Amino acid sequence: MIETILPVIYLLASAGFILAVKWMNHPATARRGVIIGEIGMVLAVVGTILGVEANYSLIFLGLGIGAAIGIPLAYKTPMTAVPQLTALSHAFGAVASALIGTAEFYEKAPTGFTMAALGTETFLGFLTTTASIIAFAKLQELMPGRPLTYPGQNFMSLGTAAAAVILVAMMVFGTPAPWMFPVFIALSLAFGILLVIPIGGADMPTVIALLNSYAGVAAAAMGFVLDNRLLIIAGALNGAAGLILSIIMCKAMNRSFFNVLFGAFGQVAAGAAGKVEARPVRSASPEDAASILENAQSVIIIPGYGMAVAQAQHKVRELYDILTKKGCEVRFAIHPVAGRMPGHMNVLLAEADIPYDKLLEMDEINGDFPNTDVALVIGANDVVNPLARTDKISPIYGTPILDADKARTVMVIKRSMGVGFAGIDNELYYMPKTQMLFGDAKGFVAGIVKELQGGH
Ligand code: NDP
Repeated sequence: MIETILPVIYLLASAGFILAVKWMNHPATARRGVIIGEIGMVLAVVGTILGVEANYSLIFLGLGIGAAIGIPLAYKTPMTAVPQLTALSHAFGAVASALIGTAEFYEKAPTGFTMAALGTETFLGFLTTTASIIAFAKLQELMPGRPLTYPGQNFMSLGTAAAAVILVAMMVFGTPAPWMFPVFIALSLAFGILLVIPIGGADMPTVIALLNSYAGVAAAAMGFVLDNRLLIIAGALNGAAGLILSIIMCKAMNRSFFNVLFGAFGQVAAGAAGKVEARPVRSASPEDAASILENAQSVIIIPGYGMAVAQAQHKVRELYDILTKKGCEVRFAIHPVAGRMPGHMNVLLAEADIPYDKLLEMDEINGDFPNTDVALVIGANDVVNPLARTDKISPIYGTPILDADKARTVMVIKRSMGVGFAGIDNELYYMPKTQMLFGDAKGFVAGIVKELQGGH
């Protein structure tokens, strides 16, 4: 009976996954996309459990342990730590496929095509595991976010990957010697580490998207090993979506995709990071900021990670409403890597019901800064740092930025002269036209709103 309905269940699950990817393309349909994806996954899991003859108590024990870890983790993680959580989820998924591959290797001693698929699955699985753990540690600031580089780094990384691939080829075309698979596992794990340590924190979004893609391809390869079509479809979708996202992000950050693929970027003088010079800046109060905004005809708001930390989006909405009512043109400039995950700012501003058509991407709005009265930066730092254009040894060199420095007046809300994610000082703060508005983003915007309302 189950053999007859299993293909139908798998077909429905696949349709769910495809619709999920399609609907997640736009903020207006994203929620629907998540729900249909979840329904697809429930169908896939239930169908697979019914379709196999296995030790059910072990399967339910595994599901129970996974749920006991996953549910609290998802509920307790703040929005600002979602990238770390994503990196950790990739590590969990990847280690699962790598371990299944290892079990299949020792149980079935595969040859030919199946061994090639198994080699791909375990290589990508193990490397994604260690790479994701390092990405997690960098994002969680458990290790330095700056690039860790050393002489002969490319030779070392590519040599490790090549040695692993040669070992797989030897196992595909010959009889594996007992030492080969353990050495191959060690090389794959090591390659994952080598891949991510030279990458600076500011480039981490692209790496996470790529690791997502690797985990997907590992799952698709696992589908070939286990002869499971749904895994092939889901893995291929995941692999392709992650790949497309990382290519889009490479373009947005002006990084070479080839370099990301082999962990070769971020090779900058790490000494450039972390220095904040004690230079004078102009600072202003909420009253001063309100009077500048009161007289402005056009304002571009640039939100960043600090807006997310402060949860200032609803106060920003109030500011938007007041200024718009006064006849000022207010728009939002969204940098593709502002915040800590793709689309972070869009999600927050959508939550505060800011109209979508006021949210403009970098290419759409950059040309308008020179004709804008005020660029109001709220908790953003790296994405408006002009050093990205000029300082060749900076870790963000070459990354396109929002041209806030070209507006007539610049105002920056942040708590201190502290650095952003890339760990470098920001030239924007020292420009004669810049006013630093020191304070928590939510509190400071509330202060401006109060002033604009007449101090009540
Ligand atoms: P940054 O991390 O460059 O800067 C954020 C700034 O917000 C800090 O300088 C901090 O200054 C300020 N801040 C923190 N808390 C508050 C608060 N409560 N109120 C006011 N200000 C606050 O953020 P950006 O958005 O400009 O740039 C994102 C960075 O993160 C980029 O380097 C990007 O590459 C990286 N990244 C992006 C990911 C993504 O997918 N979007 C993923 C991983 C990394 P202070 O302490 O002085 O208040």
